[in-house]
Amino acid sequence: MELRKKLNVLADAAKYDASCASSGSRRKGNDKGLGGTNKIGICHSYTPDGRCVSLLKILLTNYCIYDCQYCINRVTSDVPRARFTPEEVVWLTLEFYRRNYIEGLFLSSGIIRSADYTMDQLIAVAQQLREVHHYNGYIHLKAVPGASEEAMAQAGRFADRLSANVELPTDADLAELTPEKTMAIVNQTMAQIRQRIDISKAERADSYAAPKYAPAGQSTQMIVGATASSDAAILTTASTLYTKQKLRRVYYSAFSPIQHSDTRLPGQSPPLVREHRLYQADWLMRFYGFSASELTSSDQPNLDLTLDPKLAWALRHRDFFPIDINKAPKAALLRVPGIGARNVGRILTIRRHHKLTLADLAKLRISLSKTRPFVIAADSNPDALRIDRSDLERRVTAVDPQMELFGAATSAVTGEV
Ligand code: SF4
Repeated sequence: MELRKKLNVLADAAKYDASCASSGSRRKGNDKGLGGTNKIGICHSYTPDGRCVSLLKILLTNYCIYDCQYCINRVTSDVPRARFTPEEVVWLTLEFYRRNYIEGLFLSSGIIRSADYTMDQLIAVAQQLREVHHYNGYIHLKAVPGASEEAMAQAGRFADRLSANVELPTDADLAELTPEKTMAIVNQTMAQIRQRIDISKAERADSYAAPKYAPAGQSTQMIVGATASSDAAILTTASTLYTKQKLRRVYYSAFSPIQHSDTRLPGQSPPLVREHRLYQADWLMRFYGFSASELTSSDQPNLDLTLDPKLAWALRHRDFFPIDINKAPKAALLRVPGIGARNVGRILTIRRHHKLTLADLAKLRISLSKTRPFVIAADSNPDALRIDRSDLERRVTAVDPQMELFGAATSAVTGEV
């Protein structure tokens, strides 16, 4: 098959993997306007120091011997198949890189022959890039769950980031839809990577010359809405992975229905806002001190789609409020609706010099309509005395829609909740 056709098939097939962030827009260029987008997979991801990089996002092959029911590339799926050789991927990466189209490679694959054989093929690409062509760009490799420890040791020598995808939140879900995968297998692969990252960090603390191992850490992806599992189950699994496997990121990807799919799968995607709420809850767990169990409750195991999860928590825990922004510890400030982590830092700095008023919060572009009932400031705030009012939810959500639009855009980029 001609290389460009392979690229069309294998870049398109890679779009279902969210474990590096992806752009999916398709617009053709024309002679009247400027630019265009191409479905050939260039996506964007963030490096550990916060830079946004464009990546060539492709599969080595979409042939797969596994039969994960939610996946378009499963063995029983009727899709056009293609396979790159490692040399072809190396050539494509270098050509795209030299033309300045990309700053890195995101390489995943279906399982061919075995987990180890597939991993060896992925490693061959990274090894050639690093050792033959002295390529110094970003490489994100798929870590195939179940591949040998030796393969993982090799992969992390060449890749910046590795991702073993857990795909579904519970063992019961995996048993139902992916007969070949278990949570134990995925965890074992993640643990191998984590141990090597820990060893490498310790060695590099002693000597800067010690070799790096997956310096950008590891990530994973969970599909949302393919099974009936609740947000509580998804967040509990994510929290366990952050704690035990020290993952850098968990990505949440709304299930999209595929052709000729199994009757156990839903016929439609979950609302996209569910994915958004999970990302917000994920930020709250990583940067705001919330635990998974606080964000949902036994009678409400799913996140509220109409309220951001921090506001929903605050409305359920009114006894925690109001808090004094001039005296409260950082952990308490992080729980105030409408005040993001960056503004908490600013408040802590400013209050060393003078007491903050509500006007000071407004200057920090904090939405007072959302925050006012939950805080005591240096000036008078009658709303804080009425925290138990029955119409509080309506009052704090009835904000200017334009402000919400900006708030959502900022939240998507910075994770401020
Ligand atoms: S192993 Fe990966 S590519 Fe193969 S069917 Fe499962 S999810 Fe799809």
